[in-house]
Amino acid sequence: MKETLGTTGLILNEPLLWESGKKGRCGFSLPRRDVDPAPLDEELAGDGPDLPDLSEVDVVRHYTRLSQWNFGVDTGMYSLGSCTMKYNPKLHEKLAGLEGFAGSHPLLPPQLAQGALRLIAELESLLAEITGMDATTLQPAAGAQGELTGMLLMYAYHKSKGTPRSKIIVPDTAHGTNPASAALCGYRPVPVKSNAHGILSAEAVAEVMDEETAGIMVTNPNTLGLFEENIREIARIVHDKGGLVYGDGANMNAVMGIVDMGRMGFDVLHLNLHKTFSTPHGGGGPGAGPVCVKKHLVPFLPVPRVVEARGEYTLSEDFPECIGKVHSFYGNFGILVRAYGYILSMGADNLKKASQLAVLNANYIQSKLKGVLHLPYDRPCMHECVFSDKFQKERKVTTLDMVKRLMDYGFHPPTVYFPLVVNGAIMIEPTETESKDSIDRLIEAFKAIADEAEKDPDLLWNAPSRCKVKRMDETGAARSPCLCG
Ligand SMILES: *Cc1c(COP(=O)(O)O)cnc(C)c1O
Repeated sequence: MKETLGTTGLILNEPLLWESGKKGRCGFSLPRRDVDPAPLDEELAGDGPDLPDLSEVDVVRHYTRLSQWNFGVDTGMYSLGSCTMKYNPKLHEKLAGLEGFAGSHPLLPPQLAQGALRLIAELESLLAEITGMDATTLQPAAGAQGELTGMLLMYAYHKSKGTPRSKIIVPDTAHGTNPASAALCGYRPVPVKSNAHGILSAEAVAEVMDEETAGIMVTNPNTLGLFEENIREIARIVHDKGGLVYGDGANMNAVMGIVDMGRMGFDVLHLNLHKTFSTPHGGGGPGAGPVCVKKHLVPFLPVPRVVEARGEYTLSEDFPECIGKVHSFYGNFGILVRAYGYILSMGADNLKKASQLAVLNANYIQSKLKGVLHLPYDRPCMHECVFSDKFQKERKVTTLDMVKRLMDYGFHPPTVYFPLVVNGAIMIEPTETESKDSIDRLIEAFKAIADEAEKDPDLLWNAPSRCKVKRMDETGAARSPCLCG
C-alpha cells in the first residue's frame, strides 16, 4: 500500500509505563537530609504502592505521545456521516474564553450579566431567522434532548387543545433518537417506510395519519442525504388532521440560507450547534440542541426566558403554560458563545456558501466513488452520500472490513451500517471545511481498498494492521466486557 495517505495519528506504538520503567530511575531529586530520621507510624509504614521507576522525561514523553493518539478534526479528515465533523475555527474558542463570558457565574443578577443575556437573546433571533421559525429556546444540551423538548412542546400543545394524542409517525430512515424521544415522552412511535427513491411519499403518510396521532418527525434532508421533496404535502396532510410537524434539523448544514424550514411546514425544529454551527464535538463533551418553534408553540417554551424591554435584559419565569426547565440555568452557555461567534463571523452570505460547498463536496465524492462502491440511491445528494458494500460482498468483503482498512490508510472511518434502510451502509459526509486535496486523498484510499478487495481480500479481513489496536472482537466486547483493564 502507499505510505503517505492520510495522517499517522492512529498508528503510534507505546508501551505501558510498567513496561518501560527501570528499577532505580527517579523523576525528582531532594536535598540532602539535615534532620534525624524518625520512624513512620505503623499505618503508613509498608512497601508503598507498586509504581514503575521513571524519569521526568520518560513520563512527559509517554503522556504527550498518548495525547497524540487522539484522532480529531484537528488531526485529519473525519467524514462521519450525519455528524457534521467540520473544522471549528480557533477564534470561537478564544471568544468563549473571554473573561466576561467564561468567568460569569450563572447566578449573577441580570443587571450584572447584560452582555451574556443579550448574546442569548440575539442568538435565539439569529437561529429563528436562519430556520424561518418564530422563537427559540437554547436550553437543550444536545439534539436528542432537543427532540424530547420538542415532543414535550407538542404534548403541551395538544393538551391545551383538550385532545392529548398517543402516537407519533417516524420514518424508517430516522435517527434512532427520534423514536426514542417520542417514546420517552409517552408517545407510541408509528413507523412509515420511505419509497424507492429514499424519501417519504405523501400517500404513505396519509395512510397512517389520524386524529390519535400527535404529529410526525421528519429529518430534512434525511439521513440518506436526500431532500424530502414531498415535505409540504406531508405537512399539509398532518396539519389537516390537527397534528404537528417536528423537524430534526441535524442536517441543517446542507440548507443554511437556502431553505426556509418554517415555510416547509415545520412547527418545531431542533438544531445541533455542535454539528452545524461549528462548536467542538465528538468527545462526549457539552453540546447544544436549540429548539425553534412557530408562534403557536411559543407559550410552552421552557423557562427561564430572556426578555428584553427598552434595551434591558431580564430573565422571566412568568409563562404559565411552559413545560418547565429542561436544563439548569440557560443551557451550555460556552457552546452558545461559540455558535454566536461562528454565525456573526460568517455572515448570511457565507453561511449559505458553507452549505453550498458541503453539498458540492458530497456530490463530488458520490460521483467519484460511484462504480467503485455501490450507490443504492443514484440521484444527486445533499451534504452526505450513502454507499453500500454490495459489490465487495461478492468477494466476501464487508463494509466493516473496508472501513477498518481505511484506518490503515490513516483516515477516520465514515459512519457505517446507518441508516438502517441500506444494507452495509457507508455514509460519507465531508463537510465544507475539507479541501479538494484531502477529499481526493480519501477517494484514492477508497479506490485502493476496492482494488485490494478484488486482489488481496486478506488485507481487508485482517485490517487494521498498522494501528495500535488491531481488529476487535466487537461481539465479545459487548457480551463480556472487561472493565478492569
Ligand atoms: C446527531 C443526530 C441526532 C442526535 O443529536 P445529538 O446532538 O447527538 O443528541 C438526531 N438526529 C440526527 C439526524 C442526527 O444526525
